[in-house]
Amino acid sequence: MHCDDAPCIKNAADNAVYKSDDGIVVIDPIKSKGQQNLVKSCPYGAIWWNAEKEIPQKCVFCAHLLDDGWQKSRCVQACPTGALRMLHVEDSEMEGIVQDEKLEILHPEYQPRPRVCYKNLYRYTKCFIAGSVAQAHDGIEDCVNGETVILYQDGKKLQETKTDCFGDLNLITWNLTAAFTRSA
Ligand code: SF4
Repeated sequence: MHCDDAPCIKNAADNAVYKSDDGIVVIDPIKSKGQQNLVKSCPYGAIWWNAEKEIPQKCVFCAHLLDDGWQKSRCVQACPTGALRMLHVEDSEMEGIVQDEKLEILHPEYQPRPRVCYKNLYRYTKCFIAGSVAQAHDGIEDCVNGETVILYQDGKKLQETKTDCFGDLNLITWNLTAAFTRSA
């Protein structure tokens, strides 16, 4: 996420984690040796522990390639659908892009001011659930209009909706572990 207020930088001893001039947060592999605490310092879980080398590691936006003059990181270059972009722009320009494209950051409540933004983030953080309610009468199956359908998770009611004249319903929710029930 290359946060502007990165907990990994604050928790690193001996300036083992730092932000480079172009905004990339980098872990120094020599200074960080043995600092396993840095794994837990990242609220996004972006740091893992290399047990063999005893160093914390994470994505560094291919900083070594950019230093060599590359315009894009490997992931941006390799993504066949162009789902990733790497921008080197002034903050004011980035603010305009965020507004125009309705970009969002992941978990703003963590507050480390991450530099990675997402488009259509709701598709990742929420789930669209659709269904249909039908009932058999005298051997004929028909859709049920106006049926109340309740979404529960761990016994707690999350949402409630009614079916339309086709018996259809839809809900946007946070995860897929919830269970449906019809009203009595
Ligand atoms: S996402 Fe985690 S590892 Fe990356 S800069 Fe922010 S705090 Fe550090």
